[in-house]
Amino acid sequence: MIPIEGEKYNIEIESVSSDGNGVGRIASFAVFVPMGVIGDRVEVKINKVKSRYAIGEIVKILEKSPDRIKPPCRYYDRCGGCQIQNMDYKAQVKGKAEIIENALRRIGGIRDFSLDEFIECDKPFHYRNKVIFFCDNGVGMYERGTHNIVELDGCMLAYEGVEAILGAVLDYAKECGVPYYNTKNHTGILRRIFVRNNSRGEFMVVLSVNADTVPNADTLFNNLSKLNVKSVYLNIDKRKNSGAMSYENKLAYGDRYLNEEIFGIRFKISPESFFQINYEQTKKLYQKAIGLADVGKDDTVMDLYCGIGTISLSVAKQAKSVVGVEAVKRAIDDARENAKENGIENAEFFADKAEDIVPKLIDEGSAPDIVIMDPPRAGSDTVTISAILRAKPKRVVYVSCNPSTLARDLKQFINNGYAISTAIGVDMFPQTMHVETVVGLVRKEK
Ligand code: SAH
Repeated sequence: MIPIEGEKYNIEIESVSSDGNGVGRIASFAVFVPMGVIGDRVEVKINKVKSRYAIGEIVKILEKSPDRIKPPCRYYDRCGGCQIQNMDYKAQVKGKAEIIENALRRIGGIRDFSLDEFIECDKPFHYRNKVIFFCDNGVGMYERGTHNIVELDGCMLAYEGVEAILGAVLDYAKECGVPYYNTKNHTGILRRIFVRNNSRGEFMVVLSVNADTVPNADTLFNNLSKLNVKSVYLNIDKRKNSGAMSYENKLAYGDRYLNEEIFGIRFKISPESFFQINYEQTKKLYQKAIGLADVGKDDTVMDLYCGIGTISLSVAKQAKSVVGVEAVKRAIDDARENAKENGIENAEFFADKAEDIVPKLIDEGSAPDIVIMDPPRAGSDTVTISAILRAKPKRVVYVSCNPSTLARDLKQFINNGYAISTAIGVDMFPQTMHVETVVGLVRKEK
């Protein structure tokens, strides 16, 4: 039976999709239900019917799941930032572990796969050290499923302190006549407010503006400095001059970098560089990854998708040498500077795409004993992985923020002489459907 658009049906939510929608069935036809919780019986109105699934909207909750809770954030119903704030934390964790296991079984073809461990987050709110507010008619985040702005005065995932900073920027914009950018008619100035902090609660603010300067900037900097903001950048959109996409980050106030420390190593973070967004969980994740890598003093290590070199520098002391590869040039500049600052001399960094440089390095004779890789959501690729396979490292540690691409990539390793030794899930992003996985791979003797 195929459901009919506009009609209402009673269904039970049986599972959760990887993007956080509840999933139920009408006869055997799958229905995705935003904000449905496993175990709910709901009346849904079908809004869209596609060839293989439909999308429904909850009209009424007929029977509430025992895992359903009242979301603490008052913007949850509309804001697209969180998907599963209406689920009890234990149920969130269980759902995420199942998503990893299902991906590895179904996409990875790994029979009877189960995780060895799942590391929960002790602080399921106010854990994010980076948040972006978009300006259009108002200031806030994107609405669930659209690019409309939901106006917010803060975010429960962001660090305490962000709300006051956002308030100070908005007060300044109002008082000093800095209008919000309007995406429809391309007028106005303030486009985005990016707030990042370190674990000591020091902040960096990057204001994306459609202008070369902002008026009365000193008033703003003065207000922000009282809120522990150590650095303010203007992110200037240069497109109107050159036509092509081009942005420049101009330091307007304070320090160039935000300082962070992990395992006694100091890191400088610039506005363009990736840095893991949940500090406490990152330490646990890295500890697991480093443990699985088990680097000895004669081992050479390759750290792919290395960002500012956090993992590379954390293993350098134990290793003979480390090579880090990362596509963003500025992140590699930071990585080199971080190595120097910490007196680490056996780490070398390359600013290039993994798929371009890794085959070259390996075909020119690099033979890493251990590879650590932490690609973005799209995962790694067959070219990079084939090159790694040619080098025959004894261990590969794969850190992933997307179970589907992880499963796809693991298949290539498993089909070519590697076996999973350990797989651990880490909840870095409570209230959202994102989940991190660390997998240890070992080369089977041949
Ligand atoms: N390991 C680092 C960064 C992980 S995030 C950390 O823990 O902080 C993934 C990184 O991969 C980002 O820094 C991104 O810029 C980089 N990246 C994305 N595509 C890439 C590619 N094709 N080749 C190399 N690096 C890439």
